Amino acid sequence: MLAKIRPLQISLRWRLTVWYLLTLAVILVLFSAFLYWQLQRSLYAQMDTALQAAASQALINIDADGNTLAFQNIDASANAAIHNSKELTFYLWTDEGAFIERLGAETAVTLPQKVENGYTTQSNGEDSWRIYTQAVITDNAIGWIQIAQDLETIDETLEKLLNQMTIGIPLALALAGLGGYFLASRALHPIIRITHTAREINASEMNERIGYSGPADEVGQLAATFDDMLDRLQAAFIRERRFTGDAAHELRTPLAALKGRIGVTLSQPRQVEAYTDTLQEMEQQVDRLIRLSSDLLFMARLDQKQFNRQPELINLSDFLGAVVDQIRPLAANKSITLTETIPSALSMMGDMDLLIRLFLNLLDNAVKYTKVNGYITIHAQEKKGQLIVSISDTGIGIDPEHIPHLFERFYRAESDRARHGRNGDEGGAGLGLAIAYEIARAHGGDLLVSSESGQGTTFTFQCP
Ligand code: ATP
Ligand code: MG
Repeated sequence: MLAKIRPLQISLRWRLTVWYLLTLAVILVLFSAFLYWQLQRSLYAQMDTALQAAASQALINIDADGNTLAFQNIDASANAAIHNSKELTFYLWTDEGAFIERLGAETAVTLPQKVENGYTTQSNGEDSWRIYTQAVITDNAIGWIQIAQDLETIDETLEKLLNQMTIGIPLALALAGLGGYFLASRALHPIIRITHTAREINASEMNERIGYSGPADEVGQLAATFDDMLDRLQAAFIRERRFTGDAAHELRTPLAALKGRIGVTLSQPRQVEAYTDTLQEMEQQVDRLIRLSSDLLFMARLDQKQFNRQPELINLSDFLGAVVDQIRPLAANKSITLTETIPSALSMMGDMDLLIRLFLNLLDNAVKYTKVNGYITIHAQEKKGQLIVSISDTGIGIDPEHIPHLFERFYRAESDRARHGRNGDEGGAGLGLAIAYEIARAHGGDLLVSSESGQGTTFTFQCP
């Protein structure tokens, strides 16, 4: 059995951790990309506002110098510009795109072929600039003003963020991986224990239990269910073992009696009558063996649910009448009075052969355990959709301590066995009630018992 279990290839906790990490990595990368894009956007917007503000300020100081535009009052405008931002460079171009004048640090910025108002970005491979371009119109000249700012600071900031992310994301993933692995291990620990326990259990050693004490979550429930299943299995094993032992014991008793009797008879030559006596006694023992083995066989077939014929409609008064008639000679032997009160309209669905066996077993017991001149009453009625058949006797009754075990296989009230043993009438094997009970259950019904020691016993069969 164990050989069939495949060895663990990739443990569940590794797989859980890897999936967790993959999900987290995707989330972190998406989130970082969003953050990067947002920051870039806001830095550009900030710069654009500053460029436009500088442009408006510069425009005040531009005028036509003849037919050409020029920065008037250069000092003031340069001062203002330089004062506000050292990285700003101002350009003035003619309408045709010819360079007029520059204020601020030198850059590689040019006026594009197709020029219009607004923001552009230019780069010479090494450096890049953000440029704001605006048309300048005075009374006698038109041209363009351009304000450029080096993108270096923005690039630096963004690069710093990118660096932090390339270090931070793997670090966060590593930490999350450790945490995830630890959590998965913790959550799966009881499952590993269940596996170990399951491996150690076999038919002879069934005392092992998981005994999980954690919270009643999925794993806790699995552990509890597993323990529960082991309890039931163990009980079934014990029952089965006891059954085998009891069956062997019951078979041995008549066989030992047979063997003894044969030995004694053969020990010396005897008269023909003695042999006949022996053979008659042996016949009794063999009958007992046959009855026992057929009961065992019947029980085994009942256990394997081999009786699943179509249930038939049974008229109860006819049916019970016939069963009671079978037992009448036995009752007459002990001068027991049999009375039956069964309404003629009552009927039920069931397996006729099984039900005959059920009532014969109950009636057989009633006769067997009732003294001479006693009474046995069979009563049937319908109550709340349930069929109720009760068989009462005025027999020896059953002590309360035996009642819970009556329907167990091979169970006999101990004192009862001794009593019958003394009479020379070997009591039964103790299977009759067990069989009756199983049959009642197979019909979806139940078998109940009430008894008063020395007064009598009533068995009640209930069936929906
Ligand atoms: P078997 O039916 O297998 O021949 P049995 O009659 O001894 O043997 P059960 O029919 O299972 O076994 O009954 C179990 C025990 O219950 C009996 O040994 C007997 O002690 C007790 N018992 C059953 N029916 C009655 C009854 N009507 N009155 C008193 N005791 C009873
Ligand atoms: Mg019996």
